[in-house]
Amino acid sequence: MPSKPARPKTAADRRARITEILRVLDERYPNVECALHHTNAWELLAATILSAQCTDVLVNKVTPGLFRKYPTLQDFANVSQAELAQDIHSTGFFNNKAKSLIGAAQTLLRDFGGEVPTTMEHLLKVPGAARKTANVVLGSGFGIAAGVVVDTHVQRIATRLDLTKQATPEKIEQDLIKVIPQDRWILFSHQVIHHGRSLCPARKPKCSECPLDSLCYAKDKSI
Ligand code: SF4
Repeated sequence: MPSKPARPKTAADRRARITEILRVLDERYPNVECALHHTNAWELLAATILSAQCTDVLVNKVTPGLFRKYPTLQDFANVSQAELAQDIHSTGFFNNKAKSLIGAAQTLLRDFGGEVPTTMEHLLKVPGAARKTANVVLGSGFGIAAGVVVDTHVQRIATRLDLTKQATPEKIEQDLIKVIPQDRWILFSHQVIHHGRSLCPARKPKCSECPLDSLCYAKDKSI
């Protein structure tokens, strides 16, 4: 039976609780990494753009053929939006995504010497790369902890674990940056995303099986 733990009362208690949450995540998800298949930073950037409103599983089905058909940035920069949209049709929002991919490839070639930039400031200038995408590319492509990836799983679970009371990804990320040590930012996101997929989905979280149960006082726990 899932528990209803008391909230920590002091700053030291709150810090100890975060440490315990991280320890539990390490124990449960020791070797997790980005679920989007990629062999270089451009493929990761493109896959992340495609993953908006789409599952990573479906993106991973589309990208091998896509990168075979368009092996270089120039190929993406020169394809017509209509043709690329057809190629990525199954990922949804295909017209916008095709426009972003073409714009991203053109921007990398024109402004960044054909390389994916390695700073948040520069990545945010790439079409299709908002802060979440930039954090994915920096963290999983280059091992740079510039921020915390806040996708729908991180947003939901950070709220359930009372790590934030904010509603927007940008503000949630700022709250997480304050309480999670920087050397854990990249891994924390991966672990929480896996937790969301395996035990803590939006509907009917499996709280009775959850190793975070004794640390979680979410209102919508499955009791
Ligand atoms: S599965 Fe339940 S106990 Fe675990 S983090 Fe989610 S809401 Fe909390």
